[in-house]
Amino acid sequence: MLRVTLNIDCTGCGAEDELYTGILCWACVLSTTVDQLLTDSTTGTISPQLRPFAEALKGMKRANSGLTWIRQPHVTAFLQSLATTTDISHETVDALPASRTREFVRGLLEEHGVLPRRDRYRARFEDWSTAALDRVNDPSHADVVRRYIRWQHLRRMNQMDEVPQGTFLRSKQTVTVAIQLLNWLHDRGVPLPSCSSTTSTSGRPPDPPPASWPTGSSPGPSGPSSSTPT
Ligand SMILES: [Zn+2]
Repeated sequence: MLRVTLNIDCTGCGAEDELYTGILCWACVLSTTVDQLLTDSTTGTISPQLRPFAEALKGMKRANSGLTWIRQPHVTAFLQSLATTTDISHETVDALPASRTREFVRGLLEEHGVLPRRDRYRARFEDWSTAALDRVNDPSHADVVRRYIRWQHLRRMNQMDEVPQGTFLRSKQTVTVAIQLLNWLHDRGVPLPSCSSTTSTSGRPPDPPPASWPTGSSPGPSGPSSSTPT
C-alpha cells in the first residue's frame, strides 16, 4: 500500500498552512515582499520611521489579498519611492506623485502612527486654494485673495477639530465667487476700493461678492461669515 506524506509546514515560520511557493506560506511571502520593497537601497535597511508601517503590512489578515495589492506595479513603485524618502512627513508624501495609492498609504501611515492625522478637507482646501490663485488675473488681487483665504477660511478651519465637507465646499464656492468678481473688475479696469460705487455702471458682475469680503485694509478676520457652519 502506497502512503503519500505531504509536508505542509512553512519552512519560514513553521506554521501548518496552505503553502504558496511550495515551501513558504502566504504570510511569509508577504513579509519577505514587504521587506524587499520598503528597504532603502542606499542604507540596506528599512527606515526606523517606516517600521510600524512595514509590520502593519506584514500583519494583514488576508496575506494573499495583501500580496495581490502590493504586487500591482503602481503600488510597488509607490512603496519603493516611499522607502527612499528621508524624513517622512505629510509634505514629503505630498511631493510623491499624486494618486489614490498615495492617499491610501497616507491613511495607513496615519493609522499606524508614522504620520500625525491631517484634516482631510483642510488639506484639500489648501491644495485647491493654492491652485485657485492662478486663476486671479491681477497680481495685486491675487494678494488680496491669498489673505482672504488665509485669514477668513483657513483660520476658521484651524479652529475646528475636524473640517466638515460642507465647510470645505462652501469655502471653495465663496473663494470662486470672489475670484470671479475680482477678474470681472480687472477686465473692466475698475479698481477694487471703488467697486461698490461703480459696478453698476457697465453691467453686472457674474455673481454677488461674498458677504465677508475683506474690503478694508486689515487682513484679519471680518466677523461672522454667511458660510459659517451651523
Ligand atoms: Zn510561513
